[in-house]
Parts: sequence; C-alpha cells; structure tokens
Amino acid sequence: MIALFAVTPSGRQAAAALAAYLGPDAAVVDGPPRAGIERLWSRLDAAVFFLAAGATVRLIAPLLRDKRTDPAVICVDEAQRFAVPLVGGHAGGANDLAERIASALLDCTPVITTASDSVGVTPLDELVEQLGAAVDGDLAGCGVALLGGEPILLRNPLGFPLPALPDNVSVDIADPEWTIVIDDRVPARPDDPSVLRLVPRTVVIGLGSARGVTRTAVANTIAELHERAGLDARAVRGFATVDLKADERGIIEAVGDWGFWNGEGRAGLLTYPAETLAAIPVPNPSSVVESEVGTPSVAEASALCGAAELGGARSAELVAEKIKGANVTAAAARVRPRGRLAIVGLGPGAAELRTPKAEAELRRASTIVGLDQYVDQIRPLLRRGTDVRASGLGDEEARAAEAVALAAEGRSVALIGSGDAGIYAMASPALEQAGADIEVVGVPGITAALAAAAALGAPLGHDHALISLSDLHTPWEAIERRVRAAAEADLVVCFYNPRSAQRDWQLRSALRILGAHRPATTPVGAVRQASRHGERVWTEPIAEFAVENVDMLTTVLVGSSRTQMVAGRMVTPRGYTWMPSTE
Ligand code: SAH
Repeated sequence: MIALFAVTPSGRQAAAALAAYLGPDAAVVDGPPRAGIERLWSRLDAAVFFLAAGATVRLIAPLLRDKRTDPAVICVDEAQRFAVPLVGGHAGGANDLAERIASALLDCTPVITTASDSVGVTPLDELVEQLGAAVDGDLAGCGVALLGGEPILLRNPLGFPLPALPDNVSVDIADPEWTIVIDDRVPARPDDPSVLRLVPRTVVIGLGSARGVTRTAVANTIAELHERAGLDARAVRGFATVDLKADERGIIEAVGDWGFWNGEGRAGLLTYPAETLAAIPVPNPSSVVESEVGTPSVAEASALCGAAELGGARSAELVAEKIKGANVTAAAARVRPRGRLAIVGLGPGAAELRTPKAEAELRRASTIVGLDQYVDQIRPLLRRGTDVRASGLGDEEARAAEAVALAAEGRSVALIGSGDAGIYAMASPALEQAGADIEVVGVPGITAALAAAAALGAPLGHDHALISLSDLHTPWEAIERRVRAAAEADLVVCFYNPRSAQRDWQLRSALRILGAHRPATTPVGAVRQASRHGERVWTEPIAEFAVENVDMLTTVLVGSSRTQMVAGRMVTPRGYTWMPSTE
C-alpha cells in the first residue's frame, strides 16, 4: 500500500491526482500527517509526502527501524518539481517510485541520491533471469546485502558464466553474511536462512518404456531418479526418448503432469531416431533393448542426446545412470554450462544508434575486450566489477585470441567493436579460433555503410557491394579485381577503409575503374564520423570527386549508373519504377 500525505491545497490536489495514477494500492491519507504515518507505518510499502524535506524527515525519524522492513519514503516539494526518495532507495523501491511519480507530474524530476557505489551493481533478479533459475531463499534480503557491501560467498560449482559482481561477492570468504549457491543439486542442509539457492534448468531426463506403461510408473521412476541422484526437481529442462515412444501415453501424460509442455525455458519431450541413439556411448547398454528397438540404450542415450541438443555436444554429461521402474527406465543428463562470448557491434558512434540488445550484453558480461576508444564509449554502461581489457590499435588476432581464451575459462565475455562487429572487424578472427566448448552470441550493430547511407539519402536502394580498400590483409590485385567486377555489374559500391596517410592512391584508382563504367555525373557520397561529433556529409560527381577530403574515418559510397541526386539527396531507384525529376 502507498499512502500519500499533503497539507496544502495544491499538495492535496496533486496527491489526489497521483493516487489515481498509481492505482488501487495508493490512497491519500486525510488529517494531520503525523497521526496518519504513525498509524500506518508498519503496513506501508511506500509513503509519499507533499511536504518540505525537513518536515518529512522529522515525521519519519522516530519510526525508522531497518532498511529491510521500513517503507520507501518519498518527498515531493510544494511546486512539485522534484520527487526525492529519502529512504529505501534501492531495496524499498523508492528510486523506482520517484521515477514513476516524476513521470506522472508535469515537469517533475526524480532526485536520486543513492551513491554510485550501488548504482551499476548487477541486481540479483537479473542474475536469476539470465540463469533461467528457480530461487530458494530470501532473494530480497540477499539483494540488500549485496548492495550494502556485506560479504557474500559465491558457490558456482558447475561454472555458470556470470555477469560482473561487486567485490563484496567472492568465491573465497571465510565468514560470509550470505552464501549464493548456483547448482542443480539438492543441498545437504536445505533450509539454511543465510543461503540463497539458484537452481538453473540443466537436467534432461531420458525415458524408455515397454508399450502400455502407466503414467504413475513413469512419474514414480522419475521421482526415484531425482532422489537417488540428489538432483533438484526444478532443474529439469526437458525429457527425451526414442521416436517410437513419441506417442506413448504413460510418458506423455507423466511429462505433461510436470507442467513441462511448452513452459518457459523448457523443452517438453524431445524424441530421437533409434540409429541416432545407437551411436551414443553409454555406461549401461542392453542387448535385449537393442534387438527390440534398434538401439542398446534409450534412457541414457536419449538423455545425452537431449542435453547435447539443448546445450551443444561438448556440454552433455550423464549425471544419473539408468534406473528401472515398472516397465520403465529413466536416466538423467546435464547440460553443462559453457563460457559465453558475445560479439557485440556498438553501432557507428551515437548512443542512440546502439541496440538495446548490445547494451544488455554489455551488462551481462563479466569481462569486456576491445579497443580502448570503444571501451571508453560504453564504460558508463558497465556493471560494477567488470573486468575491462582495453587495448590500443593493432593486433586484432591477439585481442580475438584473448577474448576466446577468457570465454573458454568459463567467463561471460563481450568482445566489442564499432558498427557491426562482424564487418571488417573482430568476429571472424575470434570465430576462426573459437571451439565448440564456448557459447557464442552475435549481436548485430549498425554498420558504417548503413549509417552513411541514411545520412546521404537512399544510395543502397538497389544491389550493392561493400569493399574494403585496405591492402594490409588483402593484396591490391585482389581488391582491384573486385572493384572491376563491381564496375562491370553496375553495383553501387561502398568503400570501407578508403584512404589513409600511407594508403593515399587506392581510392583514386578505384574511382577511376568505376568511372570508366558509369556516367561522369554519377554521384559519389562521403560521410566522415557518421553519427559522431563533427559528422560531415558531402557528395560530388564521380569525375570531380576530391579524394583528399577522405580519410580512415570516412565511408565512401559510389552510385550505380542509375543513382541520381534528388533535391540534394543521393537516390538509387528500386528498379521497377523510374525516377522523379531531378529538381
Ligand atoms: N566494423 C565497422 C567497420 C570497421 S572498418 C563497421 O561495421 O562499421 C573501419 C572503416 O569503417 C573506417 O575506415 C570507415 O571507412 C568505416 N567507418 C566506421 N565507422 C564510421 C563512422 N562512424 N563514420 C564513417 N565511417 C566509418
């Protein structure tokens, strides 16, 4: 419940409007604020005072006990220009509520005063969401301890790649206030109040059966398997069996009873052909099963197959060997977590051209690898405790190798680059080296060609080619051959790395080749520092284009024979309709 207190007429009016905005949980409290707050304090989630800060502080001072239980308190000034969370900023939700209040009142700004030491800390619910985990224990209490800098022991025996955590969380603390355990197994002491258990979905149960097995027999065998293997039932991610059993009622019903059909993050029942299962080495093959079904193992092999399908071949391991129930067998495999490499394109420069997904991946990483100029761009977005490995220009191979090696250690790594990280950038050197032992997530970014094209008009409206003019990695003959082919094919051509102090003749040479195949009036567009401070956009006919103005911070777009300037904008027609006038 949110209680609103006001004493002046304008305060009362604003409080009433705000209560309506906040919904049925919010109410304006009539009468003197002191009596009201004393009466309601212990039952409130939040209190909002349309009062001076001093008056509010004096009212609540005698009531404050503990930040874990006190309501959030927010003070709004008489002119309703500021909403100030006084207590309960993080854990109590006062910061969030102040933001909501500010968006409800005209011209009101939330005044967030919680220090930077807690801003930027990975919130526990974000960790839980990333792991797709079930939670045991007091998540909010542990979250308060995390923000409060109390010592927290982290146990992550399966090695899940985790986001950055502040340094009060450590794998090595003698006398912790809290312990966070990330595991799929049932602990020895399940009810320890200072332990927060996160149970990720790692387990695939393989099932085999005779025809006509009962739902109860299947359910009992799964329960027994969990019991024997010490696995947490909530860790089940899916079930697996052989094709032949895809319509076995007892299995379908037992799996359905678990609520695993199409549940979030769950795989339901996976089925595999007998030949596929026969190829999987298992500890307990059976010749009887082989002669009947065509594979020496159903339960163990399908569990392993399912885990491999969900997490990659190298990540499947058997955690519970086959057990037998009434006409049914069950075994369990685990999807072992792998280190994570996100390859993240940051876009051409401006923050607003960076995707939300790129930002989410930066927050999810414990380690960032990239050029220092790009790291500096995104430093304010990083979570506290992020390990930043910034390096200067050059040695892309070494940077890519470092990112892959860090991910292979089990970390959550983001390898960042400008534009799209896959275009003349870090993705290829990294993936040339990366093995199946790491998970790779690609996050596309707005590449220079797109940023430049948008600034110029619509030059990429029909077929086009991207060509890098850098002959550092490619011999000039090869580049020239491609430019010639693009010229003959009448493609729009977008040049990356067009010109530097050392490579000053290539662009002129390329334009000469293109110019021989298209009209002298063909527009050439150039964009320097697209979307960055000092952006410059210009166009000239190909016959007159001055290459001296181009450098390595520029992208050059050469029109096809059909590209025209329309009202100062470069336009390549789609092909099916012809152009308007060139006014
Ligand atoms: N991965 C990057 C490209 C790296 S190659 C991307 O997808 O954009 C470097 C070349 O990209 C530069 O020489 C320049 O031609 C071009 N470039 C990158 N950012 C640019 C920007 N903001 N403005 C203009 N050109 C840019």
